[in-house]
Amino acid sequence: MPLFFQVLASGSRGNAILVCSPRTRILVDAGLSAKELVRRMDRTPVCARQLDALLVSHEHRDHVNGAGVLSRRFHLPVYLTPGTFDHLPSQVGLPAQTELFEPGAPFSIGDLRICSFTIPHDAHEPVGFVIEHESTRLGVCTDLGVATQLVKTRLRGCHGLIVEANHDLERLLNGPYPWHLKQRIRSRHGHLSNADTCELLESLHHSEMQCVVFAHLSETNNHPDLVIESATRLFRSPEWDGVQIKVGKQDDITCGTELS
Ligand SMILES: [Zn+2]
Ligand SMILES: [Zn+2]
Repeated sequence: MPLFFQVLASGSRGNAILVCSPRTRILVDAGLSAKELVRRMDRTPVCARQLDALLVSHEHRDHVNGAGVLSRRFHLPVYLTPGTFDHLPSQVGLPAQTELFEPGAPFSIGDLRICSFTIPHDAHEPVGFVIEHESTRLGVCTDLGVATQLVKTRLRGCHGLIVEANHDLERLLNGPYPWHLKQRIRSRHGHLSNADTCELLESLHHSEMQCVVFAHLSETNNHPDLVIESATRLFRSPEWDGVQIKVGKQDDITCGTELS
C-alpha cells in the first residue's frame, strides 16, 4: 500500500479525507462530528484509534467540526497554520497537541512529506496540500476561489488529485441563493465552478496521473451528474484514458484509492 486515500465526507456540511502510507495514517480535515468520523472510519481499512495526526486546511466549520474532540480523545497532534489556529471556532476547543506550520514550509508526519501552499479563500490562512510518500504525490485542494499560478505549480506532477468542483455556474446564477452569497461564491475568495476545475485539470494532466476526485460539491448549486458531464467532455481526449474519476459524497464515504 504505497499511498492510500479515501474521502470520508465532502461538501459544505463536512469534509474529511483519510490518507495512509504503510506506516502513517492521517486525516486531512475533520469537518464532521468526532462520533460520525469514528463511525465512517470503521468502514475503512483504518480505525480512528490508529490515526497518527490531523492536518487542517482552514478554520471553517465544515473542515474542523470534530477536530478538537478527535484530537483530545485519541491524543492526536493537529497540524495547522497560525492563522487557522488563531481563528478556530470556540466550540472546537483546544487540540491535545498543536503543531503550527507556515504555508509553503514543508514538514513530515511519520513517512509522509507534507507540502502546503496558500489558496485564495475567505479564511485567515487557508492552504492546500501535496502529500508525498516516496515518489508518489497526492494533491488536496478544496475551497478556493481561483486556481492561481501558485496552485497550478504546486499541484503539478500529482498522481492523485482531490479538487473542488463546487458549483455549476448556471445553476448557481439561477438558483435560490441571495445575490451577495452568489457573489461571494463566485469571487476570488469563494469556490471553483465545474468549468474552473476542468480548466485546472486540463493544465495539470500528465502521463502518470492515476485518479481525480471531484470534491466539495454544493448540494444546492451542483449535482454529481453535472460534474461527470463536464468531466466527460474533458476526459474524452485519449490522453485521459486510464485515469479514474470519482465524486466525493457528503453523506457517505467514497471508495478508497491506492496510488502506486
Ligand atoms: Zn469548505
Ligand atoms: Zn471554506
